[in-house]
Amino acid sequence: MSSSNYDVLVAGGSVAGLLTARELASRGISVVVVEEHHEIGTPEHCGGMVSAQGLNNLGIMPDSNVFQNFVAKTIITSHCSRVELNSEHQNVIVIDRRALDKQIAHQAQRAGAAIRTRCTFKSIGSDGAKRFIAKTTDGDIFCRYFVDARGIASLASSGRENFLPSAQFEIYASWIKDDIVQVTFDSDLYPGFFAWIIPTGQGMGKVGVAGRGINVSTALKQFVESRGENYSTIRKIFAPIWIGGAIDSFVTGKTILVGDAAGQTKPSTAGGIYSCGIAGILAGRAIAESINLNEDSALKVYEQEWRNLFQNEFRKMTMARKVLERLDNKALDEIINSLKEHKLREIIESTDFDYHSNVLSLILGSGVGVKLTRTLLGNEFRKIFS
Ligand SMILES: Cc1cc2nc3c(=O)[nH]c(=O)nc-3n(C[C@H](O)[C@H](O)[C@H](O)COP(=O)(O)OP(=O)(O)OC[C@H]3O[C@@H](n4cnc5c(N)ncnc54)[C@H](O)[C@@H]3O)c2cc1C
Repeated sequence: MSSSNYDVLVAGGSVAGLLTARELASRGISVVVVEEHHEIGTPEHCGGMVSAQGLNNLGIMPDSNVFQNFVAKTIITSHCSRVELNSEHQNVIVIDRRALDKQIAHQAQRAGAAIRTRCTFKSIGSDGAKRFIAKTTDGDIFCRYFVDARGIASLASSGRENFLPSAQFEIYASWIKDDIVQVTFDSDLYPGFFAWIIPTGQGMGKVGVAGRGINVSTALKQFVESRGENYSTIRKIFAPIWIGGAIDSFVTGKTILVGDAAGQTKPSTAGGIYSCGIAGILAGRAIAESINLNEDSALKVYEQEWRNLFQNEFRKMTMARKVLERLDNKALDEIINSLKEHKLREIIESTDFDYHSNVLSLILGSGVGVKLTRTLLGNEFRKIFS
């Protein structure tokens, strides 16, 4: 056991924590990242779908280990409806999260950050001299700022209703089409969420389900087997998804929360690489500014900037989620059917993948909105009389 001294300690070596560290180190701030697992990027709990533009904004040009696939088409199905959307304009790619996290770790290390794996953060206290003393399984670490990037582990005390169970298998199967993402809605099987197939290339893919109150292991097995052909599983993960939106405050004194730890995952799809990664960058910059100016109020800029970018977006997604949770299969069929309408398709196909809540506003503002309202009302009546 040893003790050491840094300006900043980051707990959690994934996308948010590592990008915070990269930004700090590149501004000359001493920073250490502690990661409880033995390897950065594992165990992976991600579908790996992200926009190329989003990665670019995070300062990441995916290397050949990271990039897996382009997404050319998205097929959305429900009980009796099916729509095919062209995804080429959205420039969505599938990446290997284990490799992506390592690529960011390498960026952070080159900038001067220290990274320690198999080092679990335990607790934080004060040493009585305006420094924190953090207890870890690898000894004590003294620091002036503490960044909590431990993912949803940090949200453990939040309401259970904001978590959905999910399961995702990595499989080989002939029915996985190389450049087609498939999303299946079924309010009985996956209430409040959906099942997904994300192709990683060469007949491989990540197949998952999430839903309120379901046994995800059974639901996913049934989903995979309903495809009707042989398949081989090479990895299984079970992880809760956070759908509660951003928490009330990201900064308390010199403690800063980033990423899933701050609820910065999209409430619609639970996608978080982009919104959590941007948080890491903004937090890193604000902490560096705070250290350089010796002025803690500079930390607030991080929260303001993140909320300017995402608050409105997340609010609309939360609304969409509330609607989704109330829809039955008949209503889902009608909505998915309505997406075939030419103008709406065009809008959806050209929407920015990272800011997709606009689609909802556009649907509500278009002629389909009237139909949607009728659908929702019909759905409410069906619920009352069933
Ligand atoms: C099934 C599933 C599929 C998903 N698919 C997508 C997708 O396709 N696209 C997308 O954009 N997003 C997706 N997401 C969301 C995305 O994975 C997360 O939003 C993102 O990983 C959040 O990054 P983070 O750095 O905040 O937290 P995490 O990635 O959760 O990292 C937290 C890190 O902290 C470490 N840690 C925890 N406790 C401690 C401790 N005490 N000491 C030290 N280290 C600790 C953990 O080991 C982990 O490495 C998916 C999520 C799930 C569950």
